[in-house]
Formats: sequence, structure tokens, C-alpha cells
Amino acid sequence: MNTSAFRELAQQKQQPERDPTQCAAYGCKVRASVNNAGSGWACYAHAFAEVDAWQKITRGLQEHDWLLGLVAEVRKMDRDIRDWRGFAMQFWENSDKFCQPQPFENCVPYQNRMLMELLFRIGQSPKRPQPRKPATPKPAGRFAKQAVAA
Ligand SMILES: [Zn+2]
Repeated sequence: MNTSAFRELAQQKQQPERDPTQCAAYGCKVRASVNNAGSGWACYAHAFAEVDAWQKITRGLQEHDWLLGLVAEVRKMDRDIRDWRGFAMQFWENSDKFCQPQPFENCVPYQNRMLMELLFRIGQSPKRPQPRKPATPKPAGRFAKQAVAA
């Protein structure tokens, strides 16, 4: 075995067995996606919250695993070019129509709204997230003149 191969092996052995995608909050199953200074990698719900609130958030996430499941399903359906909108419409049909996707709402903004909706439902966000209209780009340059003429 040469030196560099040996070093590589030693480094592999030193690596902690902890899953790098695991949230720093104990018992949290949501994928860590934010590295906020101090607390290390955490999920979107824990990363910006006070550590005192972590346990409450973990419980809230566990109680809303069905909502996280919806987000995961919608993401998968969109990727597979399946009818995520119809699925989400039906999902909320008999419970909370405010959470149904709006006709102008695209899939990623909808997923984000549902994640924020979860934070709102567990008391970690003061305002209920509203559906966001896609930005309409302002015509610039020669296109601006055409827009005025039309
Ligand atoms: Zn977490």
C-alpha cells in the first residue's frame, strides 16, 4: 500500500459515522439543508430557531409528518412529470382549501409555501404564508418600446 492510499484509508476511518444529512436537533428526521453558524447543519425548521425551541419544533415536525409527506410526494410527482397539482388539490379538498395550489402557483413555490405553512401551524411563524404570484419580468431595451407600442 502506498502512502496516499494509506492516508486515504486513515481519513475514512476518522470520519464520524453520523449521517451528514441529519439535522443537528435530536430526534429530527427532516433533512439538514442549512448550515447556520454555531449549530451546524440543521433542517429548515431548526436552523433559524432558538435552541430552547428545538424540542417543541421536533415534536411539531413529527406531528406534521403527513404534511412533510405531501411536500415529498408533490416534489416527486413534479420530477416525474405527473399531475402534482391535481394530487394536492384533492389532498386538501375536504380539509383546508387555502392550502390547495393556486392556478398561478408553480411547484417549487408551492412546496416552499407548504413548508412555511408547517412552521405557521406549529407556532414558529407569526404569519400564514400566502401563495406567491410568479414575478413578471419588466421588458427592457428594445422590448420595452414594443411593449409601449402594443
Ligand atoms: Zn430539524
